[in-house]
Parts: sequence; structure tokens; C-alpha cells
Amino acid sequence: MSTAYNIAQVRSAFPLLRRTVHGKPLAYLDSAASAPMPTSVIEAMDRYAKHHHSNVHRGVHLLSQEATDAYEGARTIVRRFVNARSTREVIFTRGTTEAINLVAQSWARSSLSSGDEVLITHMEHHANIVPWQLACQATGARLVAAPLLPNGELDMERFRALISPRTRLIAVTQVSNALGTILPLSEIGLLAREHGIPWLVDGAQAIAHGIVDVQAIGCDFYAFSGHKLYGPTGIGVLIGREALLESMPPWQGGGDMIRSVRIEHSEWNELPWKFEAGTPPIAAAIGLGAAMEHVESLGREAIAAHEIALAQHAEKALLEIDGLRIIGTAAHKAPVISFTLDGVHPHDIGTVVDLEGVAIRTGHHCAMPVMEFYGLPATARASLACFSNEDDVQRLVAALRRVCEVFR
Ligand code: PLP
Repeated sequence: MSTAYNIAQVRSAFPLLRRTVHGKPLAYLDSAASAPMPTSVIEAMDRYAKHHHSNVHRGVHLLSQEATDAYEGARTIVRRFVNARSTREVIFTRGTTEAINLVAQSWARSSLSSGDEVLITHMEHHANIVPWQLACQATGARLVAAPLLPNGELDMERFRALISPRTRLIAVTQVSNALGTILPLSEIGLLAREHGIPWLVDGAQAIAHGIVDVQAIGCDFYAFSGHKLYGPTGIGVLIGREALLESMPPWQGGGDMIRSVRIEHSEWNELPWKFEAGTPPIAAAIGLGAAMEHVESLGREAIAAHEIALAQHAEKALLEIDGLRIIGTAAHKAPVISFTLDGVHPHDIGTVVDLEGVAIRTGHHCAMPVMEFYGLPATARASLACFSNEDDVQRLVAALRRVCEVFR
């Protein structure tokens, strides 16, 4: 593990980690669902609320200009963080779900027709399945899903074979939230380019782990949420290729997304505001910018190295528990560990470990097709973050031993 990475210092930035749960110190292992915010994020939003709160893009008064500068400043930070070509390609949304829905409502509905296909995988989060189902229902297109291998990797042979002249869009996750699998985006990107098919990446689980460079990935759309990256809820981002965004119709109408409005006809604002109708989540965007700066200050490679080493240690420690099975054993994994315990329902696992102060997630993780693939109703999932430490892992292992005592 990196010695330069000062875990005590990293943890001290997160006030949530200082609270107790059922009288015990909190071991927070649920950042894949939502990551806590560091003080710098909370303070950035607090500062905005106390000193600059106003609406953006509209007023000439000083506060409105300050709010606009802070909001557009956050967009500049996002551009840098993911290496987008320009801020015109950075659209603020409510989260990953809304970002994908934007593409499904705007691009897909205006581009798909009967007989066309949208290719996804069997390990997508519902947010990267249902919007395409809706778009397919509206256009007569068909949703096709590439299968998994038993270890939770994508079956690339089948994926390749499912690409046809009818495929109009590829939409894949970068990291599976239910299995931790990291998908081979470079290979998928090559296939997309070879066949001239636009492709979207769901980056919800990838954005917090390692460096995301949208130009290096080469995708046409990239979606993520602020709250998985130590930012607030209610903010996310769609990065889109400018030419495609230009060609797409708006998906929501209202203030800010227009240049002019007459009763008979309106003209659209330029990018990125064409896709940001109404007053945006200003404070949340500012919080996201602060979260990205916080992550940059820790060093994204250092965070990734810490998390990978800890996840390997955690998997080893968990496998020493009798009857524990890790679901998803791909060669390349993010620090997300899904597991089952023989004879114990995952919800019972979650309830007992919670009483020990350990927060993990149990359920289908909004990835029901993954559960179906493994013939499971649910799994328990521990996910690691920049602040996770060996004590968290030991606490989880001890809590699971307690589960075994209670249920076996
Ligand atoms: N995609 C993946 C892979 C996710 O893990 C999640 C959330 O867990 C989402 C999409 C949806 O994110 P949000 O609920 O923030 O829109």
C-alpha cells in the first residue's frame, strides 16, 4: 500500500465518518451507492448559500453574476477533470440517470426507427436499460443485451457478434455496480468506431476510481453522478460530442435553453445551455466542482492504488469466512465486492452488520438482470472509497462472523 497516502488525514476530511451507528463507530462501506462529502464540499455549498445565492444567467446584479461565475466555474472544473474538449460538451443534469435519459429522449427518439437496434450488456444498471426500452417502444427499435461470462466479465465474442448493420447505438457501463467488473472500453470503442456506431458510457461507478479521460476513451457520450464522487446529490453530468449535441433536439423546454421565444416559434440557446432548461442545481454544481478539486488534491492515481490494494486484502479476508462466495471475479475489478453467505438472506446480513455499525448495501443493486444471471434474489455489497481503511475491512469481517453466529 502506498506510504505517501496518509489515510488518517484523508479520513479526517469526512465529518460523516466521525458519527456512531447503534452506539458503534461507523464503518462506511456503501460509497458505490453514495459517497460521503468532505468538509470542503459542504463549505463550498454553505458559502454559496450564505454569500452568493441568486439565480444564474439572468440578473445584472452582483450576486447573480457571482452565482453565474461559480456555476460556470464548476463546469470548467468538470471539463478539466474528465478532459472534455470544451465546456460546450459539459451538460449539467440531475445525475447519471437523467444524463442517459437525455440521450434516450433526444438523440434516440429522433434517430431510431423500426428495425434498428440498441446494444447494451447484461450487467447494466437499470438506468442504462429502461431509458432504451422506452426509446425502443416509442420508435419500434429493439434492445439487445450481450451476455456475461460466469466470472462476471462481458462475453466479448458474443458482444462482437451482436453488432450488426442494424445497431445504431452501443450503451455500456464502464464499471458494473453489482459485480465490480471493469469493462474493456478500448476494445468496445474500437468496435464502435470500426462500425461507425455512436456509443455511450455509463461512468457512474468509474468516475471516483482512477482517471477518467473522455478523449482517451473516445466515446460519444459519457454520463456520471456527483454523489458517487464525494459531491452532493441532485447533480450529474452528460459529456457529449459537440457535433452530436448540436444535431440533437432539446429534450426539455423552458427558461435558459432558449435564445428567443415567440408564441409561434422558439430558437434554442447554444451548447451546453440548450439542454439545461430551467433554474439549474446551482449549489450542487458548485459542490461537485469542490468534490473534484478535493479528489485532485488527494491524487487520483494514489486513490486508485490505495483502493485496489485494500480491495485485494478485503477479498482475501472475506474468503476466509465459511460459506462466503464472491459474486463477480473478473480479472479487472473496481473496489466493489458483491457476496453471498450460504444459508443467510442478504437482507439479514445487512441488518445484522448494521447493528455492528457497518454500512453495506444489500439487494439487487438496480441490476436485476445480473441477479437473474446468477440465479440470486440479491447479494450483499461492500464498496470501498478513498477513505476506506483496514479497520473497515476488519469490522466487516467481524460483523459477518456475528451474522454466522446468529443465523447458523
Ligand atoms: N449507473 C450505474 C452503474 C450506477 O451504479 C448508478 C447508481 O448506482 C446509476 C447508473 C444511477 O445513478 P444515479 O442514481 O445517481 O442517477
